[in-house]
Amino acid sequence: MTIPFLLRAAAGLALIQCSASALALDPLSYAHPEQVKTSALHLDLKADFAHKILAGYAELSLDWLERGARSLDLDTRSLAISKIEAQDADGRWRKLAYTLAAPDPEKGQALHVAASGQPGKVRIWYHTAPNAPALQWLTPAQTMSGKRPFMFSQSETIDARSWVPLQDTPSVRFTYTARIEAPRGLRVVMSAENDPAATGKDGWRFSMPQPIPSYLLAIAIGELQAKPLGARTGVYAEPQRIQSAAWEFADTEKMVAAAERLYGPYRWGRYDMLVLPPSFPIGGMENPRMNFITPTMIAGDRSLVDLIAHELAHSWSGNLVTNASWKHWWLNEGFTTYVTSRIVEAIYGEDTALENLQLEQEEALALLATLPKEKQALLTRDPDTSSEHYTDQELAYPKGAWFLRTLEQRAGRALFDPFLRGWFDSHAFQSVTTADFVRYLRSSLLDQHPELMTDAELDDWLYGAGIPASARRAVSPRLTALDASRAAWLKGELPTADLGPDWNAAEWMKFLNDVDQQATRAQIEDLDRVFHLSDTGNSEVAFRFYRAAVHAGDQAVRPPLEAFLLRVGRQKFVVPLYAALHARPEDKAWADAVYRKARAHYHPETQASVDRELAR
Ligand SMILES: [Zn+2]
Repeated sequence: MTIPFLLRAAAGLALIQCSASALALDPLSYAHPEQVKTSALHLDLKADFAHKILAGYAELSLDWLERGARSLDLDTRSLAISKIEAQDADGRWRKLAYTLAAPDPEKGQALHVAASGQPGKVRIWYHTAPNAPALQWLTPAQTMSGKRPFMFSQSETIDARSWVPLQDTPSVRFTYTARIEAPRGLRVVMSAENDPAATGKDGWRFSMPQPIPSYLLAIAIGELQAKPLGARTGVYAEPQRIQSAAWEFADTEKMVAAAERLYGPYRWGRYDMLVLPPSFPIGGMENPRMNFITPTMIAGDRSLVDLIAHELAHSWSGNLVTNASWKHWWLNEGFTTYVTSRIVEAIYGEDTALENLQLEQEEALALLATLPKEKQALLTRDPDTSSEHYTDQELAYPKGAWFLRTLEQRAGRALFDPFLRGWFDSHAFQSVTTADFVRYLRSSLLDQHPELMTDAELDDWLYGAGIPASARRAVSPRLTALDASRAAWLKGELPTADLGPDWNAAEWMKFLNDVDQQATRAQIEDLDRVFHLSDTGNSEVAFRFYRAAVHAGDQAVRPPLEAFLLRVGRQKFVVPLYAALHARPEDKAWADAVYRKARAHYHPETQASVDRELAR
């Protein structure tokens, strides 16, 4: 995804050698995939908007790996189970005994099924809780039309278990099919093959023929229209947003082709995107065949489409080659951040890619300055590491990318690009650990070219704090050119009007990052008067302007800032803005009042993050 949730927990793990590859025990799951693995899932569910529940059954097809195994342990969270059945060899269903363990605040509830034998199929009849963390049920007032309700899921990292009882670990991959009933007039979409011509009569049917990990299970239900963008790309959105979304995403087909030229065929059939209502808490979620995208990326000028490149990049890094447990998160997000910059470069050119890269690295260094040393490594060595001492989730994006970029710069693209493509090809549809990558890195690159990176430096990248001193920083001449203007403007020697009538979004983001906590209130007000930054459609620029304005004590920004906080539910923006307001005694009461109005519009994850921030 683009901006991570805080993982509820992120304990370390032990490694067990299992057949050829290392099968990681996932400390965030109760499943025992070394004994029995789900190979396929079928969902038959009815969406009940009045009660905010999904009800029906999940059918798991099982591969029993251990001869003596007689039980099946599944992950659940707040599910009400009514019946569990197994299918006999003669096709008949018989009831199974089961127990639901006491809830654990992080992991949910273990569902222990006494399988009495090794049945090929098990059916679990259940319904979800109205407050299932993966599902957000929106009232009509929370949608664009204001007429019909909406529901969407966010399963990553460990919330799939709150809407489906399953082995909720990325080390297990399965195919799936589904039949979903929904109220008339609403369309259901899933992270699967979607038929734009379907009507939903007798239920909406889906098929996902490629095996996926559970965190990529996704569903959304609402008043949705579909619009094709290219031969295999399209967009789904609320009717009022479909035109602007299609315009914003016009380059999608080109992006898929560019990514394929770099990293091999797109293996998921269609690439469609769903634009969610504003309460979608993150930038995007790489749900295969149907990426979920925040509406805040519709800037009106295509200036934020690198977010699409990010979600598309996950079709290789993450969805195709998947971290086997969340400890190895950088294999998903660090790789994706690197691949994103390569797609952006291929479509929008070197200058743009370099601007983005410099910003990304500067923001990584700023983030590092706020993190304790033990949260700065890509990976923790200690298998017993608790969540208190875990690699920062956000840092894994730019630091992982910086590591790959360093290898690329030293090896050259002629060597590095086939190397990376080979990683995706040789590990396609597998769940992998950092040890798998290090093995591949040695056998396919470093054994032949040991001068590219010493063992000590590789260790430093994986386990060390900060960014290794040998790493090169990206320098964009266009961003460097801003430095002199910024310094002169801060000193009052350059008129505001001479700043940046032709600056692009990256240039504004760089400028606003650098004047934050430096500019006076008068300067911020002048910036807004000349460039109207408080009502830009680019949410990244708007966010940085509001942050600088709050820090400068500019209360004139309150009306547009309030509208922004009421309109936007993306954690990346709202959490730091409330934090900045709350840190200033003169803004505290105002921030609380805005939050009281806005809270109901936010996703539960966003609510929890803001609650935590305001309680500090
Ligand atoms: Zn991502």
